[in-house]
Amino acid sequence: MLLVFVELCRYPLGMTGGQIQDEDISASSQWSESTAARFGRLDLDNGDGDGAWCPDIMSGPDGLKEYLQVDLRSLHFITLVGTQGRHADGMGNEFAQRYRIKYSRDGSNWVGWQDRKGRQVIEGNKNAYDVVLKDLEPPIIARFVRFMPVTDHSMIVCMRVELYGCEWLDGLISYSIPDGHQMIYRGLDVYFNDSVNDGASGLGQLTDGTWGLDDFLHSHIYGMWPGYDYVGWNNKSLPKGYAEMIFEFDHVRNFTSMKVHCNNMFSRGVRMFRQATCYFRSGSDWEADPVTFRPTVDRVSQGARFITVSLGDRTASAIKCRFHFSDLWMLFSEVAFQSGKMVSTLLLGDDPTHKVDESNTRILIGCLVAIIAILMTIIVIILWRQVWQKMLEKASRRLLDDELTARLAVQTQAFSSNHSSLSSESGSTSNSTYERIFPLCSDYQEPSRLIRKLPEFAQSTEHLGPSTSCRALATSVSDGAPHYAEADIISLQESSDSSTYSIAAVNMNLFAGTDSSMREFPREKLTFKEKLGEGQFGEVHLCEAEGMQDFLDEDLSLEGNRDSPLLVAVKTLREDANKNARNDFLKEIRIMSRLRDPNIVHLLAVCVDTDPLCMITEYMENGDLNQFLCNLKLNEAADEDRKDQEENEGESMISSGMKYLSSLNFVHRDLATRNCLVGKNYTIKIADFGMSRNLYRGDYYRIQGRAVLPIRWMSWESILLGKFTMASDVWAFGVTLWEIVTLCKKQPYSQLSDEQVIENTGEFFRDQGKQVYLPKPLCCPDSVYNDLMLSCWRRNAKQRPSFQEIHTQINQGTL
Ligand code: ADP
Repeated sequence: MLLVFVELCRYPLGMTGGQIQDEDISASSQWSESTAARFGRLDLDNGDGDGAWCPDIMSGPDGLKEYLQVDLRSLHFITLVGTQGRHADGMGNEFAQRYRIKYSRDGSNWVGWQDRKGRQVIEGNKNAYDVVLKDLEPPIIARFVRFMPVTDHSMIVCMRVELYGCEWLDGLISYSIPDGHQMIYRGLDVYFNDSVNDGASGLGQLTDGTWGLDDFLHSHIYGMWPGYDYVGWNNKSLPKGYAEMIFEFDHVRNFTSMKVHCNNMFSRGVRMFRQATCYFRSGSDWEADPVTFRPTVDRVSQGARFITVSLGDRTASAIKCRFHFSDLWMLFSEVAFQSGKMVSTLLLGDDPTHKVDESNTRILIGCLVAIIAILMTIIVIILWRQVWQKMLEKASRRLLDDELTARLAVQTQAFSSNHSSLSSESGSTSNSTYERIFPLCSDYQEPSRLIRKLPEFAQSTEHLGPSTSCRALATSVSDGAPHYAEADIISLQESSDSSTYSIAAVNMNLFAGTDSSMREFPREKLTFKEKLGEGQFGEVHLCEAEGMQDFLDEDLSLEGNRDSPLLVAVKTLREDANKNARNDFLKEIRIMSRLRDPNIVHLLAVCVDTDPLCMITEYMENGDLNQFLCNLKLNEAADEDRKDQEENEGESMISSGMKYLSSLNFVHRDLATRNCLVGKNYTIKIADFGMSRNLYRGDYYRIQGRAVLPIRWMSWESILLGKFTMASDVWAFGVTLWEIVTLCKKQPYSQLSDEQVIENTGEFFRDQGKQVYLPKPLCCPDSVYNDLMLSCWRRNAKQRPSFQEIHTQINQGTL
């Protein structure tokens, strides 16, 4: 390391600029193809924030082992790291609040970075936008660096990173020195150990790029103990009269000099070394003839200084130096080497013994020039391809938008002509109502299929790529209704401009590994009482669970008599379920097992040792909210005040549950009254993580393939662009609120056919004032409709309120 340049050694090493190649960026896992490691590049312009590495933390046993790895191809001195989250232009909100760094010089021995006080965790990002830079004190010398987000199990993180520093030209890969000694100076303990060398790393304080103050007692000015700056030895403790140090290098080099930063506070018994004798080794043995150097003795200045030891152009891959004491103590804070690579010496042939025949030199130079020319051409081609690809991507994205605009514009007329009939319920083409057993028939649709139905789209969908020609979406249940959770898996293509949808296959081995957070319940202790309903996986049963109370953790134990069996809901995977449904079922278990909130349905235990797979959740005795509200409406005795109060509490509880999910950056994707359950004392809890399971992070919110989706609850950007975010959950919350206020009397946009819902979505996109909002329900206060519902349906996702704000708004009673 050229010491004078340490302060300047803060160059971006190529994540941002692209000098680091995609193949040199890898990761332990990824959520999907488009959140792969290669997207983890920090973006200073903060572009659309739509590229990041996101590990599949939810599927790992503890999320702590996930990492993004950068291979710098050669040793680098890394002084600074930068991290950034993923915001996707307001649609995403994932970032790493804390992370750790591991590094390696050879790719096999890894060392955890820690600061000078031994802390490993680095405070990272506080939002998804800003770049947060952290000085690495001490800096790292490494070729491989891993960023490891530190998160609790359920937190979703995405990272974009950059490393800053410069190439490590020293070639020094490790040193061994005698352990530093302890001085007691006027009753003060002064430690001269190599505090940043943990043994595993091989390098430490002597190569950390910082050098000690003149007065070695003054380290406390930056919060460290006296003597911290230096590694030091006591003459009496090293009876040979010298400290021997061995320095190992990456390969054979030609050494010109060594610089040693020494303390010279002779008034306290410390002096720079009297003599340095250095031995060299290129193969297995030390060469006999050492280089000896004696610095001029300075009896005047007590300032610490660099001493340059000339190494006489000796070639070696290791150097052993003996530094002789000239006083009681000898203190070093930095050692650096200047060398050239052997190859240059041979080629340039300064040494007559190595002189190469002139004609051969010419041939060699000619070859080199040719190789350089070929390399340059290759680099230019690669760069050109990258630029071209980027241009193509941008163009295709623009095309999609234009195409979308154009297609939707074509519809305007058709839509407007339908428009007048929209307000009249008699004009309805969708008479579907909410049905308990197969709710998906009416509430879930396949937007791409609907778009293709329109003549204007029929042609252009060919552009949407192979997804449209994928095989049929779903296996059908007995009545032929599409069952989105059972969808066949459609290959995920890298065509980020597709606006259609897929259900992503999640290949996981849930119970492999050490995750024991969800306990296996003995299924023989479950006694069937009655059938509660039927979901996408199979039936849901009410059961008595004997001994469940003892089985639960403290924080999960439910009220009830310990001696009598607890009533629980048992969701069972249908026996004929295919592998994908099975995987989805397990994935839903994993997601639910990590959510703990009073307004989220508790998963109590599982039976997964044998088939059929079961998840046991708390029993919500009043069923789902949609059904509950429907019944409430029919109950003539129900008084209005109670209804109002219940509605308000319901909204508050749902927003509270969603606030919790949003604190985890967890996008539910299917918030609706049908997916909320009502328990004792009318407690409402959010359930059904089916969509988050299936589509969660599905190909970076740009989803290929197809799926049936709850289009009447979905934001315009979810339908048209496949973007699912907290802000689209807020949109769905607005619709859920509307359902609650209307007591689920009608399906949202009941007067619109599915096609018209999609057309209306186009109007939101075009934003020409022609979009139709859900109407203000009869008894709904103006404030609830204007200040809350309409704000959830704002076109600009960034302008929608957060769940935190919604929750506060509802609870403060400001509505
Ligand atoms: P899926 O997510 O597979 O579609 P659900 O979880 O929605 O299945 O369950 C289907 C129905 O079973 C629900 O609508 C509800 O009526 C009933 N149900 C599910 N879980 C519970 C529960 N914990 N307590 C009471 N009823 C439940």
